[in-house]
Amino acid sequence: MTKQITKQLRKKLPDRPVLEEAELIERYPWIVPGSLKGTGNNRTIRISCQHPGCRKTRMTRPQDAFQVQLCHKHQAEQNAQKSRERRKRWRVKDKLRRKAVREGKP
Ligand SMILES: [Zn+2]
Repeated sequence: MTKQITKQLRKKLPDRPVLEEAELIERYPWIVPGSLKGTGNNRTIRISCQHPGCRKTRMTRPQDAFQVQLCHKHQAEQNAQKSRERRKRWRVKDKLRRKAVREGKP
């Protein structure tokens, strides 16, 4: 009887790839359930874009899932935005530096 139950429980437990996917989703909720494919180093997983209103998905490697949260288009937009902000910050700093030089401050 006990043996039978154990067997049933074992049967119900998900196999290794499914368990890994469940673990991944627990950490990175933007992963699309049931999207883990491949084995070993060739595994891929699908993420759904976290940009508001965007319903696109994108393939990535499970080991990159922690940082990939946007589709290609929105990732590119975000990268452009970040570099714009970086340039802006640099310009403000540069302006202050030039002003300080003009006014003879060290
Ligand atoms: Zn998107």
